Amino acid sequence: MLQPPETDPLNPPERTLMGPGPSEVHPRVLRIMSAPLIGHLDSAFIEIMNEVQDLLRYTFQTENRWTIPVSGTGSASMETAFANVVEPGDTVLVPTNGYFGGRMASMARRAGGEVVRVEAPWGEPLDPEDVAEAFDRHDPDIFGFVHAETSTGVLQPHVSELTSIAHEHDAYVIADCVTSLGGVELRVDEWGIDVAYSGGQKCLSCPPGASPLTVNDRTMEKVLDRDTEVRSWYLDLSLLEGYWGDDRSYHHTAPITNVYALRESLQLVAEEGLENRWERHRTVAGELKAGLEGLGLEMNSDDEFWLPSLNAVRIPDSVDDGQLLAELQEEHNLEIASGLGDLEGEILRIGCMGYSAQRKNIEFVLSALEEALANQGYEA
Ligand SMILES: *Cc1c(COP(=O)(O)O)cnc(C)c1O
Repeated sequence: MLQPPETDPLNPPERTLMGPGPSEVHPRVLRIMSAPLIGHLDSAFIEIMNEVQDLLRYTFQTENRWTIPVSGTGSASMETAFANVVEPGDTVLVPTNGYFGGRMASMARRAGGEVVRVEAPWGEPLDPEDVAEAFDRHDPDIFGFVHAETSTGVLQPHVSELTSIAHEHDAYVIADCVTSLGGVELRVDEWGIDVAYSGGQKCLSCPPGASPLTVNDRTMEKVLDRDTEVRSWYLDLSLLEGYWGDDRSYHHTAPITNVYALRESLQLVAEEGLENRWERHRTVAGELKAGLEGLGLEMNSDDEFWLPSLNAVRIPDSVDDGQLLAELQEEHNLEIASGLGDLEGEILRIGCMGYSAQRKNIEFVLSALEEALANQGYEA
């Protein structure tokens, strides 16, 4: 007989979370996660589902009927977008300017799409002229872009210009809003975004597990009119319609506790007001950015494309990022992150998201960072 391992009751450390996600969770959200479960078809739960959908529409600034939390993390809502909208043989245009554009390409390819690219270096946004040229050359059916690139700290400007180019070519636009929703200005309907997806643990400050997705009617017509079945049963929107649409019939068991948490996180967004929340992220992250520059550090991207929710800063030559992150964790219980992909070893990524976007956290990060840099001989 196999014996149980020798473990103790779980007691995770208390960290200050200032990385690229998860962000810190508001005590009200943690509290609601200990509320008793109800069934996923309980009339009280259906009411909660309706409220989550209404709150999501507000947060996305959309009237899309098709606005739901997908079970799973941000990658699940991302895969739901690509798996449903991309049909075998569709041409999908994706960006090269960060890690998550690469993930879009993998997902589009797995869905049977033909992937083509619009180039921009890591650390820069897409230029509408390059997007227009890529449309002329490849005539894609679907265009994906990343609104807030967590790997580079770049906010994509000119969103309406990009969507106009796509719509002139009758293409569908999928926007990755994982690190923008609830943190920086995002107006799905006004900006002409057809499909937007996000996650909980970034600017919504919700534990990961139920991830926002919104799809407009025009795109849902394409999805419901597919010649081939969506390859994923779990993420097939035509099946999820049974549960999140009018029927409210069983498809899979909703992650009840995660839906409670998302409901409360979105309630906090509504109470604060979306524009106030955008402003808070700009102000608090602005203090972080000023403090980093005050330490003599250089931001990775131009001020024009600065992403308040994710501050990417160049690592000074003399500093070892692995050692720095380890010291911050061990000595200060502080989490920030290093670079991914092309920017590995070149930048630090400091999040300023949701409940973590507080002045006291900024002061703490700056003083801990100054100390850890000094320990490696870096003089501010
Ligand atoms: C975090 C993130 C994702 C993926 O979300 P997970 O919750 O890690 O699955 C996708 N896109 C962007 C821009 C992200 O920052």
